[in-house]
Amino acid sequence: MKLPRRRFLAGSLAAGVIASPVGIVRGQPLAFASDPFTLGIASGSPREDSVVLWTRLAPQPLEGGGMPDSPVAVDWQIAEDEKFARVVAQSTVQAMPAEGHAVHVEAKGLRPGRHYWYRFRAGNALSPIGRTRTAPAAGSTPAQFRFAFASCAQYEQGHFAAYRDIANRDLDLVMHLGDYIYEKSWGSKLVRQHAVGIPTALSEFRDRYALYKLDPDLQAAHAAFPWLAIWDDHEVADDYANDRSYTTRDPAQFMKMRAAAYQAYYEHLPLPASARPRGPFATIYERYRFGDVLDVMLLDDRQYRSPPACVGGARPGTVADCPERTLEARTMLGSQQEQWLDRQIAGAKAHWTIVAQQTLMAELDRPNEGGHRFWMDGWDGYPNARRRLLDSIATHKPRNPVVIGGDRHAFFVADLKRDFAKANEPVLASEFVGTSITSQGPSAASMQQALKANPQLKYGRGDKRGYATVEFTASRCTVGFEALDDEKQKDSAVRRLATFVVEDGVTGAKPA
Ligand code: FE
Ligand code: CA
Repeated sequence: MKLPRRRFLAGSLAAGVIASPVGIVRGQPLAFASDPFTLGIASGSPREDSVVLWTRLAPQPLEGGGMPDSPVAVDWQIAEDEKFARVVAQSTVQAMPAEGHAVHVEAKGLRPGRHYWYRFRAGNALSPIGRTRTAPAAGSTPAQFRFAFASCAQYEQGHFAAYRDIANRDLDLVMHLGDYIYEKSWGSKLVRQHAVGIPTALSEFRDRYALYKLDPDLQAAHAAFPWLAIWDDHEVADDYANDRSYTTRDPAQFMKMRAAAYQAYYEHLPLPASARPRGPFATIYERYRFGDVLDVMLLDDRQYRSPPACVGGARPGTVADCPERTLEARTMLGSQQEQWLDRQIAGAKAHWTIVAQQTLMAELDRPNEGGHRFWMDGWDGYPNARRRLLDSIATHKPRNPVVIGGDRHAFFVADLKRDFAKANEPVLASEFVGTSITSQGPSAASMQQALKANPQLKYGRGDKRGYATVEFTASRCTVGFEALDDEKQKDSAVRRLATFVVEDGVTGAKPA
């Protein structure tokens, strides 16, 4: 089912359009002089019987929001139909100044595997209508299940035509794997500007999210489907690791900034209450189940990782191997998340097991005379953590394990093995990396070199922006690499660049 995009984009200021008043409006009804729903609406964290509904009141989105320093009542409704004739839940929540007047509503008591429509009202303003979808019931197997996964949307380097294309598809879900915003300006042939510098304070991070979320194509992608989202580095600072950042060397100062960044991330995405930050800490790793089709484990490989190896506190680029890299104690997920993931993998029961994380998991060696060089910000900087994750898959044998990632600004297909140097090692999982929505990719020469030196990489393209689609049936998983003609054009077309399949019971991707 395809919904016209315009339906989602027309915010209105009509008072009393909701037929029966919902909830109780405390205090004086606010009369907004301009639309407070400038950042759109969103839904996420779909479960069988619930979904999180999101909006943020921001009549002056680029100037701190423009809201009074007091709580504001927000009515919400969720219905079985887009005309809101069959409303199944409604209430009122308070949008709080401490959360930038963002609201996260958990709409409960829903039925599994079906569409719902939702909207908000604040004072005299009515939000656009969003459509969402609950997860299929446990034990059920829908004939098919589809999602898109995306990452890396540097605002200045291109228009969000890829998000528009996602919005126009027929999907059950969107997964965002990080770099939803960028803190810094970079790249060539910029089509638009951040206008202000690198955010460090909460108000500055809020304004950065607002700039991105004013984009109608991003709003449309949120309004069309529920999202699952995890962050990568640029939501905070380039290539940070836990409390270490080469841009802010004092860990105490960096953690203050991380707290602001995590808070702003929470405020702008349809995350569950369990992800609400407490200072510089927030738990975003989580498991989602979609009937008997999919088990999804969302990981956080930024917050708990060991410092980058072999670079002595400098920026973690591609550098020569050193003994620090292969220390057993080095962690990518932190011991708690690592143990949690092992339990989830042990308990996975669905037909397909998706590990959704930030970056390329397969080894990407850049050999040079007499040695090896690795990108220390990725899993190659944490090879034993990767081996432990793959050990967990080898031990528990979940059905059809598939790893998805972003971060590299390139499409990759890879075979995951415990030891990439051994040609005969069994393939434990199939891996797909979506490219970037806009962020510029590696050079053709660097991709060619990578593919030549790393037989586990079965496909790689760094010259195209876009995203990936995944379609599951009982017998196969089909991954499509969807590529923009030109991310510098607002109305760029999107074309299928390549299609791969993973057959049920056969690990490893094949070209379709
Ligand atoms: Fe990125
Ligand atoms: Ca990244």
